[in-house]
Amino acid sequence: MPAFTAVYIVLSGLSGVLNLLIAIYALFIRGMVSLRLIYLLLCGSFVLYTFGAAFEKAADTLSGVLFWTAVQYAGMPFAAPLTLLMALELIGKPDLLPRWGKRLLFVIPAVSFLLVATSSYHSLFYRAMRFEEVGGVRSLEFDMGQWYIVHGSFTSGTLMLSLVLVLIRLAQPSRGFKPQLAAVAVGIAVPVASSLAYLLGLSPHGVDPVPIVLCLTSALYAWAFLRADLITIVPLARDSVMESMGEGVLVMDADWRLLDTNRSARLHLPELEKAAVGRSLHDLELPAEASAAFHAALATAGEAIPFSRGEGASALHFEVYSAPVQRGAGRIGGHLLVLRDTTERRRLQEELHRLASLDSLTGILNRGAFLSQSAEALAGCVRAKRPCSLLLFDLDHFKSINDTYGHEAGDIALQGAASIVRERLEPEMLFARYGGEEFVLLLPGWEEEGAIRFAEQLRAAAEEARLALPDGREIGIRASFGAAASPAGRIPDYLEMYRRADQALYQAKEQGRNRVVSAGAV
Ligand code: GH3
Ligand code: MG
Ligand code: MG
Repeated sequence: MPAFTAVYIVLSGLSGVLNLLIAIYALFIRGMVSLRLIYLLLCGSFVLYTFGAAFEKAADTLSGVLFWTAVQYAGMPFAAPLTLLMALELIGKPDLLPRWGKRLLFVIPAVSFLLVATSSYHSLFYRAMRFEEVGGVRSLEFDMGQWYIVHGSFTSGTLMLSLVLVLIRLAQPSRGFKPQLAAVAVGIAVPVASSLAYLLGLSPHGVDPVPIVLCLTSALYAWAFLRADLITIVPLARDSVMESMGEGVLVMDADWRLLDTNRSARLHLPELEKAAVGRSLHDLELPAEASAAFHAALATAGEAIPFSRGEGASALHFEVYSAPVQRGAGRIGGHLLVLRDTTERRRLQEELHRLASLDSLTGILNRGAFLSQSAEALAGCVRAKRPCSLLLFDLDHFKSINDTYGHEAGDIALQGAASIVRERLEPEMLFARYGGEEFVLLLPGWEEEGAIRFAEQLRAAAEEARLALPDGREIGIRASFGAAASPAGRIPDYLEMYRRADQALYQAKEQGRNRVVSAGAV
């Protein structure tokens, strides 16, 4: 056997062993989820090809050569579509080809293998096979059959396509993992270039160098794929984070044209569902409030701009802020608009505000809320030249209820008094627990006469009421009322009205309680 043939056998055998080791290694490393099967099959096809090539060169009968050639073809033709599938995974577009399309890719390689395995019976693949000695190196010579051309075109076309896909991805700006992508590109290019050299008759002694260079390809892939999940999974993970975010995200380019939206954004603003990518913010046909808020947010990066949709209880509240998308070296590539649904927060704030303005025992307004609301109501009466009355009442001998029946009974009496009044409240009236067992009512629009009549109704209702205690006993309550009325156009400030009502209440107590006394119209 000539030295060159021996070297070739050793090199391609070595390549086979290396491929096998790498395949075994890949079998046991973790990660690489998306690429594992494709990569293992690719390694397997390299192993068959490289070992087949080594043994073919060592064979000295035509039938031996044909057998080991068939072994090579059990691997090599399949490597091309597997490389394409790998490239699709790497560029993050595994779904570019449908499942049946992926399967179809393996039809030509399968036919090639079958034709090579049966090549002694036909000349579709090889024609006129013979051994020839060129420069001391013996090799199998043949003319190309028809299918050889189909196989060759398919293989080189598929590999070129894979290379182009990886190169396109490599050329995209700001995509990470360039070293890995470059390694894969070289891994594809080296055997393609070698087989081209072989076909052009440029390889030494006319031998096929591909089996030998495949150990380089395999090693480059192995290195790249150790990080491959980073390449394939990270963008997918980012996508799924963006899709599952509770906050709405709109990706805009530097000229405020819509590029992308996530699910939450489309949920908050269903109008986005129809919005075409590339439309400018002006043409998105969003509700006027949203559109104005988006403009304001884009004009003031970072500031949260509130806006609402709808009215009343069904209103939805949002806030939106923008963040620039940097495109390296401080250039603005676009903007993110981040949309947050604040309806629930608003509702909670309103609820807290409402609770803070209520007396916890009776559920009516507390003193602070009454003071601020009655100041507004009084000012309204002054503006509208309406009269206004103020009623103060205090439970009679309340201490004795506490003393006789216990503090809990006192609480029940307070709640009972509050609900007796509440049932009779009319619109506009403000009613509050002023402190202890003293209550206050503001009656905007009410003259003295009506206010006294109303107070008298309340007093009588309290007198009639029987309040049940938890132990089954019943108690009654009584109250004394002081009224202060101010006719239209002569409304003093709140403190003055309160002072007069308090004096009248004092008189009611003095005069024997359970009565209404008016300070008289001033
Ligand atoms: P008068 O007829 O003169 O108003 O007699 P009174 O006993 O009602 O007089 P006073 O204002 O001196 O007594 C008020 C009592 O109310 C004192 C306090 O212990 C009681 N009190 C104040 N706040 C509460 C409360 O939230 N729950 C209960 N159970 N008692 C309270
Ligand atoms: Mg009292
Ligand atoms: Mg009192």
